[in-house]
Amino acid sequence: MTHKDILASAFLTDADLSGGGLKVHSPVDGALLGSVATHSADDVEAMIARAKSAFDRWKSVPAPRRGELIRLFGDELRAAKNELGALVSLEAGKILQEGLGEVQEMIDICDLAVGQSRQLFGLTIASERPGHSMRETWHPLGVTGVISAFNFPVAVFAWNFALATVCGNTTIWKPSEKTPLTALSVQKIFEKALKKFGDAPEGLLHVAIGGAEIGEALTSSKDVPLISATGSTRMGRIVGPKVAERFGKTILELGGNNAMIVAPSADLENAVRAIVFSAVGTCGQRCTSLRRLIVHQDVRDQLVERLKSAYAGLPIGSPLEKGTLVGPLIDKQAFDAMQHALDNARAEGGKITGGEKVDAVEGGYYVRPAIVEMVEQSEIVKHETFAPILYVLTYQTLDEAIALQNDVPQGLSSCIFSTDVRETETFLSATGSDCGIANVNIGPSGAEIGGAFGGEKETGGGRESGSDSWKAYMRRQTNTVNYSRELPLAQGIKFEI
Ligand code: NAD
Repeated sequence: MTHKDILASAFLTDADLSGGGLKVHSPVDGALLGSVATHSADDVEAMIARAKSAFDRWKSVPAPRRGELIRLFGDELRAAKNELGALVSLEAGKILQEGLGEVQEMIDICDLAVGQSRQLFGLTIASERPGHSMRETWHPLGVTGVISAFNFPVAVFAWNFALATVCGNTTIWKPSEKTPLTALSVQKIFEKALKKFGDAPEGLLHVAIGGAEIGEALTSSKDVPLISATGSTRMGRIVGPKVAERFGKTILELGGNNAMIVAPSADLENAVRAIVFSAVGTCGQRCTSLRRLIVHQDVRDQLVERLKSAYAGLPIGSPLEKGTLVGPLIDKQAFDAMQHALDNARAEGGKITGGEKVDAVEGGYYVRPAIVEMVEQSEIVKHETFAPILYVLTYQTLDEAIALQNDVPQGLSSCIFSTDVRETETFLSATGSDCGIANVNIGPSGAEIGGAFGGEKETGGGRESGSDSWKAYMRRQTNTVNYSRELPLAQGIKFEI
């Protein structure tokens, strides 16, 4: 399929792709995909007003009925999976299978949200006063602002949108300025679901196209009670305080610096597969990509040898071609950042294998993923470089390995390969990994929808997807009901009048 075919089959028209000020290039070959119209801060203000009035109607629609809209959205995504998956691949540079996997994640979260729409439950609580009952109820919050990153151009939106919608909210989505086309395509797919649904208020979903200034118009509005922002820690440092200043809520999903500990008892065959998938998948541009390998000294040499040989045979090329496992970096800036990090690693004593530019497709930034053997966890290792660089560190005791794993500013994902239950349970205990995600005998990336997703420290502390993440999209209310004929006060207080 040509680029044009992919764009057209994902419902994008000439009008979507021409006449605007935002030039969108494919990381596959640098080709210009379109010139997309951008919004202004005033446009965002108007969207917020419309989303607010849609919220006034949507919040009183019964939650299971709201779930029906998301069920229809999931159906439309199933029907458009191949087309949207190919567009993700073309615009974000992921290999086709990962583009399809991303759309599958959207479908999965829709399924979860449909079920959740019948499970937005609170608690009943024992009251200390006779003839009283207490309970906790959950109510819709309002307009949700979703700011998303280029590397998961559609799934992260869906994680937020599906839950926000069944919870009774309306949404304004600001996709990455690097991937606006997938967002426009998703908006069209959602409109199909809306049509089938019938009586939804106008303005449930708005897509605001532009850069940081559009994100800022959202974060500074007091009419957007919740901002869910996914991206770099740099962005989170601006967004977090800005929203807190107006007492808004945030879900922050920021950078990661994910590690794997490989113990002497590990199944090395599985470890190698897990390492390669999580370190080079999406060309190292996943928030959960494996960046630090902490290997026991007894197995270090053989593991590194096996990895080098697996890396040497990696098929690097167009993500649209069958058989490719490593696609391009998103752009030149990402390539320069990778080379800069490798220079720093070298200066800090690192021994580098790979990392060079590969001439796979003219116009794209393709690299051979790098393995960097470090003497210690120096400055560059503690920094998230959004590229396929795997730093290798060596340990002698599990305590030392856990200390290394935790000694970085980020706290997203982590894992241990070991068949020793004492080690694995220690890793998962309060004295083990300090991350939001900690796995055993499986890599750090590729989370399932059912669990809560997110991380600690500079990763931001937010949680999305499964478990009780839906609560972040609602406001909690505590209710006390007096069904007696008296008015007893709490804490035994007497206040006679
Ligand atoms: P980025 O921070 O450059 O941009 C992310 C989004 O934030 C974009 O939409 C951008 O326009 C917007 N933005 C930037 N500055 C802003 C501001 N001042 N106010 C409001 N919005 C602003 O990130 P990126 O390069 O697109 O993505 C890569 C980063 O995202 C990596 O650090 C990666 O780890 C992280 N990420 C984290 C998760 C997670 O769940 N923790 C998931 C995906 C990506």
